[in-house]
Amino acid sequence: MTKAAGAGPASRDVAAPGARSRGLPVPLAILVDFDGTICLSDAADEILAREAVRPGKEELDRAYVDGSMGSRENLAACVALLPADPAPVLATADQLELDTTFAPFVARARDLGAALEVVSDGFGFYVGRGLARIGLADLPVATAETSWPEGGPILDFPFGHPTCLVCGTCKRERVLAYQARGFHVAFIGDGLSDRYAAAHADTIIAKDRLVGVCGAAGIPYVPWRTFDDVSAWLDGVAAGRTRLDPPRRRPFICGPEAWGPEPRTAAPPER
Ligand SMILES: [Mg+2]
Repeated sequence: MTKAAGAGPASRDVAAPGARSRGLPVPLAILVDFDGTICLSDAADEILAREAVRPGKEELDRAYVDGSMGSRENLAACVALLPADPAPVLATADQLELDTTFAPFVARARDLGAALEVVSDGFGFYVGRGLARIGLADLPVATAETSWPEGGPILDFPFGHPTCLVCGTCKRERVLAYQARGFHVAFIGDGLSDRYAAAHADTIIAKDRLVGVCGAAGIPYVPWRTFDDVSAWLDGVAAGRTRLDPPRRRPFICGPEAWGPEPRTAAPPER
């Protein structure tokens, strides 16, 4: 069986900040989405468009967008559209274009002592490979794990919520885990899969569809186009020009706290 996990899985238990935030006013954790954020395209969509050997993607897309199917169920169904042989799929993954401003941003954030983690609600196998291509194989990654047993690819969700089955990787739980350790959490993203994390992050750095999500929910955000913009924001924080909001509890908008204890695979219709 071929395994294609990320190069550096995150530890589920977040370490305390210690003395690491040396250049920053508070311990800062920066969580970064992958598809459409570090990767310039939606990696899962692009891989499916090029490599799927079975039909059904459009129907699955519709169910995800209209909310009748959560990402966990959607990803599990989508990965089954890929071929039993991982070789062509991984070759396509290795051609995905990554934002060239990401690696310099990581260097700057590490220099200041920020904690970093890539948080991706996708197939997972392309994240660690992509980061390794740009010299960042040691970056912690919270995402799904694809394996290729004989019958074809399947997914595991080591960073899924234990009882809520709506998302594959629960980005919200990663935000809460860092906050519980005393970090100010900045979340960088672009899309719908970031909405539950954005509801809890202390700073949201948003582009594309995430801007609309934040706007509709009345959540303030820092706009960005490339990681140079995020580096400029970070420099402002380090220099004291940009003040970070103090931590505050935010209402739950997802998971058992908002939707009740029964296991569910899709969010309830919004009232
Ligand atoms: Mg994204």
